[in-house]
Amino acid sequence: MAEIALQNIAHSYSPGPRGEEDWALKKIDLVWRDGGSYALLGPSGCGKSTLLNIISGLLQPSAGKVLFDGEDVSALGPSARNIAQVFQFPVVYDTMTVFDNLAFPLRNRGLDEAEVRARAGEVAEMLELEHSLRRRARAVSADDKQKISLGRALVRPDVNVIMLDEPLTVIDPHLKWQLRSKLKQLHRRFGFTMIYVTHDQTEALTLADQIVVLHDGRVVQSGTPESLFERPQHTFVGHFIGSPGMNRFPARLQNGAARIGELEIAVDADLSAPDARGEGKLEIGVRPEHIRFCDDGFPVRVHRVRDAGRYQIAEAELQGVKFKIYVPEGGAVPGEDARVRFERAYTHVYRDGWLLRPAAA
Ligand code: ADP
Ligand code: MG
Repeated sequence: MAEIALQNIAHSYSPGPRGEEDWALKKIDLVWRDGGSYALLGPSGCGKSTLLNIISGLLQPSAGKVLFDGEDVSALGPSARNIAQVFQFPVVYDTMTVFDNLAFPLRNRGLDEAEVRARAGEVAEMLELEHSLRRRARAVSADDKQKISLGRALVRPDVNVIMLDEPLTVIDPHLKWQLRSKLKQLHRRFGFTMIYVTHDQTEALTLADQIVVLHDGRVVQSGTPESLFERPQHTFVGHFIGSPGMNRFPARLQNGAARIGELEIAVDADLSAPDARGEGKLEIGVRPEHIRFCDDGFPVRVHRVRDAGRYQIAEAELQGVKFKIYVPEGGAVPGEDARVRFERAYTHVYRDGWLLRPAAA
């Protein structure tokens, strides 16, 4: 096991990068704590696989260093880094039996046959592969093949990190849920560092303690699910996490107060700080969950109320801007003309997408 630090990592696939858009990763500084369970979350093309391949050593970054427990491993190849990587599509030895596939990484490391049998058997049991241990890998289902790939990562006693790159893409939805909880259990039991790549927020939120959100080759936030929800560091996080995502209102500063149109809004930002007064696009962000109907708030127009099962989402308009309000089960939705209040502690201000410093407590 090891702590992994990325220092100033940048990567371009083009030999002569010029503009911003030539960089798949822009400048990444990040520490993955030993034993942590992380989700690396972001839309397709944001650089997730590139980042994993740099950590595992499959790819040499254009700039920056990779450290394992403080030691520079940038020049080391994948095998010397002792990382188990599971890919989107299963990688199995078709002609070997399922058991031999699981045993392979252990035999390769010279473990004695009794230990190989014990570990492979244990992993097979955890993944419910016992029934097909004697079968050739080519003959098993796609789900089972991906379980074999997972098993080959989990079976190794010496791994620094297990990295999984959208591993459940090919898995049947029901089994997906099972495997997710299994992974969580295994992480608790063995304490390996886990980096789980996904573009699915639900998967990230249910699996990991820490979520690293990647957007356009940059880490926009790394934190607990709660912190991503309550204090998105970037409007992208606000929009990407949550359903529906955070509302955004064009805003401006006037006499030291934040305004949406003509309305003065109480916000959780230090508006006297230098970064608040800089140039750039100013927005107020507040999640649907942090807005409620009340008798003495801002006047809004309610256009539509959508039933979402145990709650409702009201679609409304404030100063010409459309936004959404979360209405909990049993909550009343007033008529077309209503009033709302924003919870100040969760009403954030962003400049050019980035969160302004909160007001001092
Ligand atoms: P993700 O895994 O988040 O979908 P990737 O890391 O695969 O993203 O890709 C990040 C960016 O780098 C994308 O714009 C992609 O087109 C580009 N890219 C990925 N792999 C290569 C490659 N081998 N050669 C050139 N460009 C690549
Ligand atoms: Mg990818």
